[in-house]
Amino acid sequence: MEEQKGGLLVVMAHPDDESMGTGGVVLRHTRAGITTHLVCATYGEAGWMGKPPGAKQEDLREIRAGELEQAAAALGLSGVELWDYPDGGVRGSDQQEITQRVWEQISKLRPRAVVGWGPDGAYGHPDHIAMGACTDAAVAAMTEGERPALYHVAIDRPLVDFYLEAMRLAGGDHALPLQPQEKVDVVIELDADEVQMKLRAIDCHRSQLEDWRIAIRDHQHLMQRGYGHEPYVVVSSRAAGLTEGGLLGEFA
Ligand SMILES: [Zn+2]
Repeated sequence: MEEQKGGLLVVMAHPDDESMGTGGVVLRHTRAGITTHLVCATYGEAGWMGKPPGAKQEDLREIRAGELEQAAAALGLSGVELWDYPDGGVRGSDQQEITQRVWEQISKLRPRAVVGWGPDGAYGHPDHIAMGACTDAAVAAMTEGERPALYHVAIDRPLVDFYLEAMRLAGGDHALPLQPQEKVDVVIELDADEVQMKLRAIDCHRSQLEDWRIAIRDHQHLMQRGYGHEPYVVVSSRAAGLTEGGLLGEFA
């Protein structure tokens, strides 16, 4: 079968990043019939939370691979490349090799746009930061005519407020060190149906569901404010002035 070119490529670090971080933008594109692929650098084997009930820590790697497969189906992804870099050890891995492998995916899939982690890693996660830097380098290494537009996942002030409120609701006291951007370029606002679809993808990652993610389900307004709001920063665009249309604008 001939590989369909011209879609979206999302490059993440862990199973669940694609749903919790970029679920809305992925759904927007797949539902519009735009081919969307995912690269995920690790199996997420370090994310042991004692879930789901009855699970054993040594099985987490396979559990998370299975959860990612389900989430990919829920999001309508056309393909998933699951790599085997150590969870928590992406930065200590061969950065040139990772960059080369991302470059190969871009060369093969020829996406019009790539979405990756920014230099803040959303909340400073070293795997996110390393994977984002390799993705930036891979995009920069493409020849000019073949270089896709590049976007970074971003956190803005409304999203920080959402996380604080959600965690308060669950009675949690540990706050993520979220780093809001002063200015974001594109905000994808999801409607109520899209929020439910994104929730279904997030819920596939049963081993990773923090208490606050369960607590907010009874609070539709909060879900809308948090899951329904995805900010991005434009790093580079094929053509000047595309910022306005943002992401979907790449495909218009
Ligand atoms: Zn992650």
